[in-house]
Amino acid sequence: MKKRGRVTILVGLQRGDEGKGRLSDKLAAVHDIVARYNGGPNAGHTIFVKGQTIAFHQVPAGALYPKVLNVVGNGMYVDPLKLLAEIAQLQSQGIKISPKNLAVSYAAHLILPHHILMDELREGGSGAQGSTKAGIAYVAADKYERVGVRAELLDIDPKLLEKTVAEGINKVNQLGQQIKDFKPVDAGAEAKLWTAEALKLKPYIADSAKLLNDQLQAGKSVLAEGAQASWLDIDGGMYPYVTSSHPTTGGALNGLRIGYNYIDKVIGVMKAVPSHVGGGPFVTAIDDESVAKHLRGSRGDIDGEFGATTGRPRGVGWLDLPAIRTSIRDNGVTEAALTKLDTLQKISKKTIPVAVAYKYRGQELKEAPSSAYMLQRCQPIYKELPLWKGDVSQARSWNDLPEGARKFISFLEAEIGIPITMIGVGPDREQLITR
Ligand code: GDP
Repeated sequence: MKKRGRVTILVGLQRGDEGKGRLSDKLAAVHDIVARYNGGPNAGHTIFVKGQTIAFHQVPAGALYPKVLNVVGNGMYVDPLKLLAEIAQLQSQGIKISPKNLAVSYAAHLILPHHILMDELREGGSGAQGSTKAGIAYVAADKYERVGVRAELLDIDPKLLEKTVAEGINKVNQLGQQIKDFKPVDAGAEAKLWTAEALKLKPYIADSAKLLNDQLQAGKSVLAEGAQASWLDIDGGMYPYVTSSHPTTGGALNGLRIGYNYIDKVIGVMKAVPSHVGGGPFVTAIDDESVAKHLRGSRGDIDGEFGATTGRPRGVGWLDLPAIRTSIRDNGVTEAALTKLDTLQKISKKTIPVAVAYKYRGQELKEAPSSAYMLQRCQPIYKELPLWKGDVSQARSWNDLPEGARKFISFLEAEIGIPITMIGVGPDREQLITR
């Protein structure tokens, strides 16, 4: 097969919330198609454009550009009702969305009401995992148990879809009998209502794999946009503190059904202050709350480190190069974007620690192990780097950056072995330096 088009893959190198949204936004302008390959409504990008906050959960960020075609890939878990609500919300903000610029893969698994009910039950009990209650683990379980339903049923067999929805709710009703104060749901009525609403998505359903491959054959460019991050990958992350999909380069190929030979670039996104939500190990966590609170920012800040759905404060940490090296290795990352450089200025320290290696069972590791158990037994080996003087948030080019900030970035590049080609110095569209 002769290679004609090209694919740029965007992956998070840490634990999510790295600022992939603004990179998608930036790169969408120079691609013909933006295709999301994993996750579902449990994730999202926040993009700040001309004073307006635009939130994407299932719709790819290319929707901000009228010429871009947006694809919800087969690797995604689609909640039809939430997707329809998101389309309506974006439309109310003046963004044009129609089947002309949004295609949803017929092979994407649908999140059904019982997936959400199960998630809510678990999160309300002693087995809570700190999920977003979007039903992700349960839709994934059905997918791999081979009892799930895909978007194709909206077109091919709505009656079967309605029947499956009712059966799923009935299953939860049965389980609920063992739970105090559980209120059963009227399965028949709910299934009818839900299916009638979900059917509004039918005009968007498409053969996205054929569409993408035809476009690539015609020489078009595709931006493969991920949600979450490499450390949350169900295989390569810190299992079980992961998500039930593949936020990786491998996940992009599989989640869009395109060949590796189209890959032109893999851009890894990392932020200067990594953050963490939920359980699991965090080797470079900042325990000193007086420092952490400055880096976290305030609730209500556009870039404050608080859970988007839960509002809980996120843990923040120092840059963790062993973890980033593993992500670069696993995803074949060719270049990196460093976001939130400006946040480091919020602390008044002369130097900041950066983890350059780990100590694990008496050994020194340069790459972090993909295991929660092993990570729990790793200690960071820090190098103190000078914190620059001056304000990076005003910089619009490499040369505008204070010399100390340039040295800091050059140090990181030497440590991770790939160039840092984009630098975020604030949440605004203009506050992104490209080199
Ligand atoms: P994603 O989960 O990787 O898609 O993360 P988002 O794209 O939603 O970004 C997380 C938050 O970081 C958003 O509120 C952005 O506005 C903010 N953000 C991204 N880049 C920068 C940056 O360079 N500086 C600051 N201060 N905030 C940023």
